[in-house]
Amino acid sequence: MTLLQCLRDARRSYDERLEREQATRGAEDDQRARLRADPVALREHLRQRTRLGRYELLERFGNPNAQAIELLLHADGILAHSERAALRALAGEDPLHPRVGEQPIVDSVSGALTQLAEHYRDVQRARAGELAAAHGEGPALRGALCELGGGGLLQAAAFAELERRAAGDKRASVLQARWREAYTDRREREARRLARQKGLAARLLAVDAFLEQADRLWLRVCPSCREIVYPQPEEQLDEVGLVPAGRACPLCARRDLDSWQPAPTAGGSPTADHAGQA
Ligand SMILES: [Zn+2]
Repeated sequence: MTLLQCLRDARRSYDERLEREQATRGAEDDQRARLRADPVALREHLRQRTRLGRYELLERFGNPNAQAIELLLHADGILAHSERAALRALAGEDPLHPRVGEQPIVDSVSGALTQLAEHYRDVQRARAGELAAAHGEGPALRGALCELGGGGLLQAAAFAELERRAAGDKRASVLQARWREAYTDRREREARRLARQKGLAARLLAVDAFLEQADRLWLRVCPSCREIVYPQPEEQLDEVGLVPAGRACPLCARRDLDSWQPAPTAGGSPTADHAGQA
């Protein structure tokens, strides 16, 4: 092999490597251009490449911006203007190698996320309004509206569950109304029974004086829903005169219920819609 032949061979392998590198660069540039032009593809790309989990996102971006990023990456279908802007801001200079939350958060990113959070808050509030019109405003929707009213956002999973929970609250509220009505009938009988137990002097007092005592005995309050939990119509006192344990909130099924305290200003009537407690 001559020297010239050796040099030619070396040159050829160098040229081939250069060609391969140029082809790779060209393909990457095409992909970058496609990601910049197609927000749906960019969303999918960010979904696959974002390595931060919920808690890391929360730590980096805080609430509600972290929730807004999660909602953005979970979303499907057509993108709103603020969603497209947030995707571009999060993708940064090089959409092919995005580093969501791994770099200092610049003003353009936090501005885009603020707009995005506002967009999702409007979307979630509108949806909660539709569900309230269809199912009534039960604890799930009240909790959601309270979160949104306080400047927060519902997490993607909680937002997806809202309709099922609102429908469940409606079914439970039918049951709740039945139990409330049965207790309204039972309340005065219970007050008379308690007055009889106290003897002659107490019997001379108005039965009203024992209504509150009957409520304390029979009613509970759910710490989650703040709903009064009424006794089931067939529920009886145990042998020592106490309400047996084991009652559950008809709305959320929670069993560790609080005792009932009459509201100081509302006259203490527990047969209205909600527990009048702070
Ligand atoms: Zn409850």
